Amino acid sequence: MTGKIKNKNSALKVNKGIEQPSSFNPEAAKLFKGSKPGLLSIEEYVEGIRSGNRTILSQAITLIESSLPSHQQLAEKIMELCLPLSGNSIRIGITGVPGVGKSTFIESLGKELTLAGHKLAVLAIDPSSKRTKGSILGDKTRMEELATDANAFIRPSPSAGSLGGIAQKTKEIIVLCEAAGFDIIFVETVGVGQSETAVHSMVDFFLLLMLAGAGDELQGIKRGIMEMADAIVINKADGDNLKKAELAQREYKNALHLFPPTESGWIPFVSTCSAREKKGINEIWEKILEYETLAKKDGYFPKRRKEQELKIMFETINDYFIGNFKTNFTIKKLLPDIENKVLKGEISSYKAAKQLLEVYFENISIDK
Ligand code: GDP
Repeated sequence: MTGKIKNKNSALKVNKGIEQPSSFNPEAAKLFKGSKPGLLSIEEYVEGIRSGNRTILSQAITLIESSLPSHQQLAEKIMELCLPLSGNSIRIGITGVPGVGKSTFIESLGKELTLAGHKLAVLAIDPSSKRTKGSILGDKTRMEELATDANAFIRPSPSAGSLGGIAQKTKEIIVLCEAAGFDIIFVETVGVGQSETAVHSMVDFFLLLMLAGAGDELQGIKRGIMEMADAIVINKADGDNLKKAELAQREYKNALHLFPPTESGWIPFVSTCSAREKKGINEIWEKILEYETLAKKDGYFPKRRKEQELKIMFETINDYFIGNFKTNFTIKKLLPDIENKVLKGEISSYKAAKQLLEVYFENISIDK
């Protein structure tokens, strides 16, 4: 509506409402002192994380996920200081095809754990989708209860980057969550197919959720993924599905016999559960604790974590080199021609790689 309201008593006149408090919180503002707008000092981040302040933990994670060099520098320093505070947790990977019931399972088990006094962080790895931040909570049914649980912290997958990059970041987020006192970490794979290996390389225990009677019993889950599993759990063992689930359990048990023994000496178990009806969930947790006791008794647990650290170090180097190689000015100019020659069979792929690497290393300092 345009034009002035002339009549003072008009119902259309906007009266002064009740005074609202400022939306600017002066207490929070004190935290921002001495640093760039919107950023805290390193000490404030670390202290906030150490004291379990979830807002500050979230902000620090955002820095880890950021591609801004200034954020990355800050994140690196926070990481360095948080590393000695981390490690005191059990990290559990949870995978399975979409619809198998991962979030329902996480919610069921997660609630049991938080009620028992544990602090649970749920992280996700999803390199395939273009989900935006927060979307793990976006679709309405995902972990509604845990999302409002004071002892749980849910964080979606870093939304951008290569699988290697996402895995590296998720690993760093695990460190921050542990430093913040979360003693159980779930890493869920949201995408299928490629992220399982990445998750396996950052967790202590790898749980594969399956469905019974979904046609092909292996449901596109590759044998390699089954081999990585410390537990195969057939979900939706309820109602009409119960018998089928028990049959599938026997079949998977038989299939597992064919796999080589695991390095930890752990014999992967196959069980059934109903995440929706919260049946069989406690038994799975008992088994995970059994695994933890076994793996810690003979030193396998810390050994595996150390190996994982080295693996991540080399993966980071690989990622860095490939990224740097592909953006190298001289290589970018040469590459189409050499690719063409390889495709035409004029030069072997091995020779082409050697030639490119020689050029790369000659130019590496010039390009810097
Ligand atoms: P996700 O995609 O693997 O995270 O699967 P969801 O947890 O979102 O579950 C997919 C669908 O399966 C939802 O409709 C759930 O309600 C349902 N569901 C999950 N767990 C169970 C279960 O134990 N029994 C039954 N009958 N349905 C379940």
